[in-house]
Amino acid sequence: MGNVILDVAGVDKNFGGLEALSDINLQIEEGTVNAIIGPNGAGKSTLLNVIVGRLPPTRGHVKFNGHELTGKRPYEINQMGVARVFQTPEIFPDLTLLQNAMVPALAKRDGQFNFKILKSLYHEPDILEEAEHTLKDLDLIQHKDQLASAMSRGDKRRLELAMCLVQHPKLVLLDEPTAGMSRHDTNRTIDLLKNIKERGMTKVIIEHDMHVVFSLADRISVLAQGAIIAQGTPEEVRNDPKVKEAYLGG
Ligand code: ADP
Ligand code: MG
Repeated sequence: MGNVILDVAGVDKNFGGLEALSDINLQIEEGTVNAIIGPNGAGKSTLLNVIVGRLPPTRGHVKFNGHELTGKRPYEINQMGVARVFQTPEIFPDLTLLQNAMVPALAKRDGQFNFKILKSLYHEPDILEEAEHTLKDLDLIQHKDQLASAMSRGDKRRLELAMCLVQHPKLVLLDEPTAGMSRHDTNRTIDLLKNIKERGMTKVIIEHDMHVVFSLADRISVLAQGAIIAQGTPEEVRNDPKVKEAYLGG
């Protein structure tokens, strides 16, 4: 294995009596595309929330490039180069697409997001250029001056992706980036994800639809009832009887 950029070691997460994650061990190699798949309720979003600092683990550690993330605030983790797209889009509906794309770039540069930033958006030529570039990459540039609230669901999800990529993260975590999209929008998003040639960017994509990730991932980890039941290349995972059982509810 090359450089391990993300190391999840012995992570448990309990919600009261429910063990949502149990002894998760996961190593992500720099520059690779990784998928975490599993049925609804398997613990995928919980794992992502633990990694990005939204939820403290009950036990265990998460390290990024050798630095401890456990106990750090989400914005601190973000500034270290970890960006994420949550399952529910988090955009600013009353801002234009261009403003939406500029906000995270400024937040990354300046620290915790401050609404005063909004007044100065157009006094930031570098950030403006970066935001336009990213909107172009995601096929959104033609809508840059429209309000985010006016966009279709698929466009909103791609805007969130833009808000993530504009930060040039080292590691990006996507929670069901194609959820709620039509087949056409799903395929388009998969193609965009494949074509984004961010230098050295490592991707972790959470999906409950196995077929979405087979064409995308170098490695797949399968989560079921809070535990990793299989790990490997798409081919290895596809043929694993434990995986078939988890998906067929066996
Ligand atoms: P997935 O993303 O794989 O569908 P989740 O991580 O959302 O699964 O949920 C895993 C389990 O943890 C589920 O049983 C869910 O109901 C439970 N859970 C998730 N978040 C919370 C929470 N904040 N409080 C209590 N239970 C939760
Ligand atoms: Mg989820």
